[in-house]
Amino acid sequence: MGAPVYEVAKEFVFSAAHQIRMHGGKCERLHGHNWRIRVYARAAELNRIGMVIDFADLQRVVADLCSRFDHQNVNEVPPFTEVNTTAENLARYVYLQANSRLAELEGGRVTVSRVDVWENEGSLATYREE
Ligand SMILES: [Zn+2]
Repeated sequence: MGAPVYEVAKEFVFSAAHQIRMHGGKCERLHGHNWRIRVYARAAELNRIGMVIDFADLQRVVADLCSRFDHQNVNEVPPFTEVNTTAENLARYVYLQANSRLAELEGGRVTVSRVDVWENEGSLATYREE
């Protein structure tokens, strides 16, 4: 028997423009996506009512993060004024931000285990740490 792991996930969709710097192809031109973000939260122990985290609390964390980008040009939102706006980099950003928010909320019991970012149906980048 391995160590127990519980995971829950929440998805959020927002619309935003971006352009991939140095791409050299059509992705370098300004264009938009309906980005889909899925944040996985994990815990080895459930809270006193049997949850990793209330879905509503996780929803708030993800929605707050995504609201920075909704109907914006992601290239104009720090740190993406400097960091290239690939799905991979967005996944890492959301992972790190969501992790520190969960640490504040849950005192380290709940951590982010993975973030998925879809640019389009069928185009997915994942960030996690091992
Ligand atoms: Zn794109």
